[in-house]
Amino acid sequence: MTAESALRADIVEVGRRLYARAYTASNDGNISVRLGTDRLLMTPKSVCKGFMTPDMMCITDLEGRKLQGDRDPSSEMLMHLEVYRQRPDVQAVVHAHPPIATGFAVAGIPLNKAVLAEVLTTLGSIPIAEYATPSTSELPAAVRKYIKAHDGMLLANHGALTAGADVFAAYYKMETIEHFAKISLVARLLGGENLIAREEVDRLQGLRGTYGIKAPAPICADPVVEDATCQVVEAPAGRGLRLVPDLLESPAPAPANRHHDPPPLSANTDEGEIRLTYRELSALIQEAIRSVG
Ligand SMILES: [Zn+2]
Repeated sequence: MTAESALRADIVEVGRRLYARAYTASNDGNISVRLGTDRLLMTPKSVCKGFMTPDMMCITDLEGRKLQGDRDPSSEMLMHLEVYRQRPDVQAVVHAHPPIATGFAVAGIPLNKAVLAEVLTTLGSIPIAEYATPSTSELPAAVRKYIKAHDGMLLANHGALTAGADVFAAYYKMETIEHFAKISLVARLLGGENLIAREEVDRLQGLRGTYGIKAPAPICADPVVEDATCQVVEAPAGRGLRLVPDLLESPAPAPANRHHDPPPLSANTDEGEIRLTYRELSALIQEAIRSVG
């Protein structure tokens, strides 16, 4: 089997898996890989990714001109070209509409909380690229903002995009995003995620080197940093603790089923125990320091 025929077979297999896992419906989604230094092998438009054959693929140059193939390349080709342009290290791109991750994209909720070690070490954060009309040049412009620092992102009101060192690596990142979205949804239904502390996120980032994980940018575990060169993750300072309650909750009252939220101070002494939020604790310490001074 030649290198090209092996890549064609890999795209067919990844398409089959995307469709089998319902990450695409009907003719949704598209897959591409680099073919040498100056060409791309890409899924054609208007075919179901679950039923492709190796001969269906198109070959284009890096400007998107079709060089070979009976069919026209994917309608999202411009988005793929933009990823390869911005990321010389990327060998393959996968786009799909996995339903739970796409639900987050539709709700405008990025998957950027420090929740799972596996996600932090691999993808870091999964931001949402602003809405753009599919298949137009708006979409590559929206993707450009995040692709330099991220191997995976949600596309607002659309789906998800992943990039990798080969087509399976890109596909597995799509699996990770959908799996993470599913776990995040369940955690929210059960009252909300307990976030991993910033110090632990730093430790996990150190493990990237240990495990040979090549990430396009470092994790910035600070929600106030606005920097497109980093993977911004929401992780509160834990003062040595590995898991801390979410300190960044909105001022709106928490849902009644948030079992891990400390109840009001006055209602919380019936077991001879006083529990304080970090905010309350630091206010008490400051007050004590003031009174000593
Ligand atoms: Zn799409």
